[in-house]
Amino acid sequence: MKIGIFGGTFNPPHLGHLAAAQTAIDVLGLDKLLIIPAAVPPHKELPESTPAPPHRLAMAEKLADALLLPETVEVSPLELDRSGKSYTSDTLAQLKQQYPGAELWLLMGTDMFLTLHLWHDPEAILNLAGVCAFGRSEQDGEAVFAPQREHLAKAFPGAKLTTITLPGLVDISSTRLRELLAKGTGAEYLLPSVYGYILMNGLYGTHADLKHLDIPELRACSYSMVLEKRVRHIRGTEEEAVRLAERWGADPEYARRAGILHDCTKYLGQEEQLALCKTYGVELDELEQSAIKLLHSKTGACIARHVFGEPDEVFHAIYWHTTAKADMTTLEKILYVADYMEPNRSFDGVERLRELAYQNLDSALLLGVETTIQEMKDRSLPVHQNTLRAQNWLREHGVTTEG
Ligand code: ATP
Repeated sequence: MKIGIFGGTFNPPHLGHLAAAQTAIDVLGLDKLLIIPAAVPPHKELPESTPAPPHRLAMAEKLADALLLPETVEVSPLELDRSGKSYTSDTLAQLKQQYPGAELWLLMGTDMFLTLHLWHDPEAILNLAGVCAFGRSEQDGEAVFAPQREHLAKAFPGAKLTTITLPGLVDISSTRLRELLAKGTGAEYLLPSVYGYILMNGLYGTHADLKHLDIPELRACSYSMVLEKRVRHIRGTEEEAVRLAERWGADPEYARRAGILHDCTKYLGQEEQLALCKTYGVELDELEQSAIKLLHSKTGACIARHVFGEPDEVFHAIYWHTTAKADMTTLEKILYVADYMEPNRSFDGVERLRELAYQNLDSALLLGVETTIQEMKDRSLPVHQNTLRAQNWLREHGVTTEG
């Protein structure tokens, strides 16, 4: 097994780290990549604005989640859990024990590679792992790497050294980013999920007013709360909801914000969802208490209202986007239907739903509701009473799925 080890302060992780990690996985053919945030780096002081270890781990998790094949990537708290300076030689010795027989590769950018001989116990490091170095800027070519490679090869015979070129160089450092963030810029160097995490937790001197975020900031916050694989669906729902709002005369801005936030609590566990319902006074019936899928629309609506200051229209659209209900507003119908048929959805009948959505919104809503009811029946699951009420209400008002 080939394991890559990517250590650093990741304070915060940025797109340069992402490019480096992805290229190393591909070029070295790694079976596993360990991202290891340092507790106390031996070669630099952690600045005062450094967030507490749980924040640094959480941001590193977002970096891991954004890599292709995130299941091969793991964030390890090994150095954060160890007291004292985070010497790489200690980390490698620990990993060698944990993964006997594995081939370890230490990943590092130019700055680290050029000083490797000055690290604590470089001999142990080079005995335990190969080193894969990559440039951080256009200037870091062979002319920079070759002399150091030769020097290390001579000083540590048998050392495995390789240099790779990153196809997508991102010339940024965390130091520079922290300066930019404190001035209210720098988002373009960050994964939106990391940026959102920083804003939501007020890290690095950001003082975002979460109740008055612009659209890119709101997206970033939403994406910071979910797994990367859900972002496509959220994006699709946002765009579809805006198109439907323009078609049916609802407010496109509200539709956009509802689309962006509709699944923001999707990955919270049952207990957290129930605790949020308690905090915000959401009354739950028996089915809702036990069916976690029904909870995220309620808690997502509460977060939209109480954390992001969204108006009632957006709150209600999110609140009803899973079960639907009798007598819905246009915006509520739009989010329900957009969530069902946005371009990333694929199931038998989705094309018909897409057609109907632009011909007759009520018919599309009824088709969605009936599809859900049928699916629940097929899976022997209880149907929520509000979904049945939605169906009855639409039928009583002469709506059919014929359009
Ligand atoms: P700081 O500015 O706080 O020193 P940094 O941006 O150098 O931070 P680290 O967390 O110390 O980030 O870096 C972890 C590893 O990633 C190091 O090996 C570093 O060389 C490498 N690295 C950092 N930035 C880039 C980048 N833009 N492109 C490629 N590699 C990078």
